[in-house]
Amino acid sequence: MKIFRCQQCENPLYFENTKCEVCGCQLGYCEKSSTLATLVKTDNPKDADSQNIYSLLRDDGEHYRYCKNFGHKACNWIIYTDDKAEFCTACTLNRTIPNLQKRKNLREWRKLERAKHRLVYALLRFGLPVIDKDEAPNKGLAFDFLSDATASGSAQPVRTGHLNGLITINVAEADNVHREYMRKQMAEPYRTLIGHFRHEVGHYYWERLIRDRPEILQKFRKHFGDERTDYGEALKNHYRNGPPKQWRQSYISKYAASHPWEDWAETWAHYLHLVDMLETAFYFGISTGAAFRENSPLKMQADFDPYEEGQFDILLKAFVPLTFALNSLNRSMGQKDIYPFVIPKKTVKKLKFVHRLLHSKM
Ligand SMILES: [Zn+2]
Ligand SMILES: [Zn+2]
Ligand SMILES: [Zn+2]
Repeated sequence: MKIFRCQQCENPLYFENTKCEVCGCQLGYCEKSSTLATLVKTDNPKDADSQNIYSLLRDDGEHYRYCKNFGHKACNWIIYTDDKAEFCTACTLNRTIPNLQKRKNLREWRKLERAKHRLVYALLRFGLPVIDKDEAPNKGLAFDFLSDATASGSAQPVRTGHLNGLITINVAEADNVHREYMRKQMAEPYRTLIGHFRHEVGHYYWERLIRDRPEILQKFRKHFGDERTDYGEALKNHYRNGPPKQWRQSYISKYAASHPWEDWAETWAHYLHLVDMLETAFYFGISTGAAFRENSPLKMQADFDPYEEGQFDILLKAFVPLTFALNSLNRSMGQKDIYPFVIPKKTVKKLKFVHRLLHSKM
């Protein structure tokens, strides 16, 4: 993620900020320019709604207001006042949100929104279509954030997953204790909200970018295997018997070994992790390896924007030493590795496939 700067005082800002801590100015995320823009209140006394209407400090002649979810402290994106929509591109994808009368739901929903907004930021940076399912029922994307209580009538707990563009996330995943419990139950080294979002949206884009394009589907099968293998049986087998012994040689995670679709979603999620980490490193100007010899593989310099860089090898060459350095920093503080994975050679090829697909090189 970018590190933004206040347009008034140059103070560095997080993506989620709504006010600059230093100069106090009001901030809103502007999709068009992917900047955190400083907002200036318009003062038209005739307009009853003018309190909530802003122009930009770097005036582009437009008027803006916040997305409706700003009122819940769940979004800081701004939309044109001329726009009929109430929600920003990220929030409009919500089909169901939890019952906000319950304070716990509100707190957890905000966490889900933080992760989802970061996801949508990345999708837009890649230039991927982000289409609301209301607009395009067959090709669109939507989110259901369900708690076991909202899914009344079903004795089954809510399962996080994807079906025809609808991504369901169990709100309980936003609860750190529950997530840690699940992480241990599933014997996963890593389980986060952003990880869930990246994984599930991977299934959606498989259908959008691969399923109906025979040439690309053929290449997909070369790397990931034949997805026509019975999915239900494959998952049953995975949960009953676990992954094959040698899974580390071919897959980024145990779950990736369960079925080609899951291998794809896991690999896709890792590609998004990799790009986000490298973008952050780029904005901080991070380099590593000062103590190592000249041609050490632990040397890296984040001097490129990973969304723009066409060569995957350049991304990977920087990413591996970056994660080694970050894991070492975490270990210094007695924390778990931030990136507890080793990328096998076969997964490198799969990641390259994702990269080429996103850079339209197929
Ligand atoms: Zn400021
Ligand atoms: Zn919004
Ligand atoms: Zn999946």
